[in-house]
Amino acid sequence: MIPKLKPSLGWRELAAAVRPPRDDDVDRFERGFAREMGQRHAVAFPYGRTGLLLLLEAMGLRDHQVICPAYTCAVVAHAIVLSGNRPVFADCREGEFNMDLERAEAAVTDRTGAILPTSLFGHPVDLDRLAELRARHPHVLVIQDCAHSFAAEWKGRPVQREGDAALFGLNVSKTITSVYGGMVTTDDDDLAERLRRLRDDRLHQATMAKGMRRLLYLLAVYPAFAERLYPLVDALQRRGRLDRFVCYYDDRTIDMPGDHLEAMAPVEARVGLVQVGRYRQVVDRRRRAANSWRSLLDGEEGIILPPDTEGATYSHFSAVVDDRSRWEARARIAGVELGRVIDYVVPELPAYASYRDDVYPVSVHHSRTVVNFPVASGPAGVRWR
Ligand SMILES: *Cc1c(COP(=O)(O)O)cnc(C)c1O
Repeated sequence: MIPKLKPSLGWRELAAAVRPPRDDDVDRFERGFAREMGQRHAVAFPYGRTGLLLLLEAMGLRDHQVICPAYTCAVVAHAIVLSGNRPVFADCREGEFNMDLERAEAAVTDRTGAILPTSLFGHPVDLDRLAELRARHPHVLVIQDCAHSFAAEWKGRPVQREGDAALFGLNVSKTITSVYGGMVTTDDDDLAERLRRLRDDRLHQATMAKGMRRLLYLLAVYPAFAERLYPLVDALQRRGRLDRFVCYYDDRTIDMPGDHLEAMAPVEARVGLVQVGRYRQVVDRRRRAANSWRSLLDGEEGIILPPDTEGATYSHFSAVVDDRSRWEARARIAGVELGRVIDYVVPELPAYASYRDDVYPVSVHHSRTVVNFPVASGPAGVRWR
């Protein structure tokens, strides 16, 4: 069975994880990350959402509106609400996964503090359109949500660099991982300093116990994705027996994990730094896998393949299908697990009922019809027909 997602972890991550800690593990990870992303600063957090929470505060935003996609990960909206701001949701652009920047711009008011363009599934945000929005509304700060895209490029321009700051998620389901963890990058020296100060003020130091938990989790990840064991993992997952490990948020309440203010553990930073060194190779492999799926599925009925955007980094190869269960069953016969990365629309979640101030037809359609094909390895050897 080819799993729907699989971290690209090797022996070097394992060796780094068991190495004795050094005081500067997190600093080194931040510097390596900033260099790879072409930014002046990177600040590490225990989760991407913690980074967003403190970034909004460091930007001085409170009681503001923050525009974000309706079709995105719920934790983004959680962080906006818990920072004391109000999420304003914009639907996807027709025929795309990314937020419609026309709709987003129509939602701008003088209370808008920031916008979170999100290069969903690794498809780069239209930076030309975004630049027009910024020029017309200079009071709106831009936070690039790069949790899926990392360094996706729009016409050769990396998305993370065109904004006031960028946000990354680094759990094991992301393109590269630091076990858990998140990162905020920026070229703004003052913002970086404010954010660092807030982080150091607000977060508790990672305890030894946290380091140990993260190490054990990492050690469990290796066999969990091994081909021979994955059918067992898959069976447990389908019976909901792994929810404690894989459901990393609750869609009924707006909250954060209990340890969201406990700093990134040094072991996570050491693993993350090795992963940064692998980033280009990982993205190349994903692009090749995406191309292979594209040729394999080209011409099939009942499926709309993702836009073939140059510069996409394919955190997921996501397609719109006519009947999701049928496609999942069919893939299963071929030994391929399909995923449903985002099968909800944030403002349609019960917890967000009071934030639902528009309709989101494209997002609703995507939440019901999108499947993602495995891109960690691609369809090599799969007998599809
Ligand atoms: C994963 C993710 C984040 C950050 O998530 P954390 O779990 O808090 O690290 C942010 N935005 C999107 C779109 C994501 O998928």
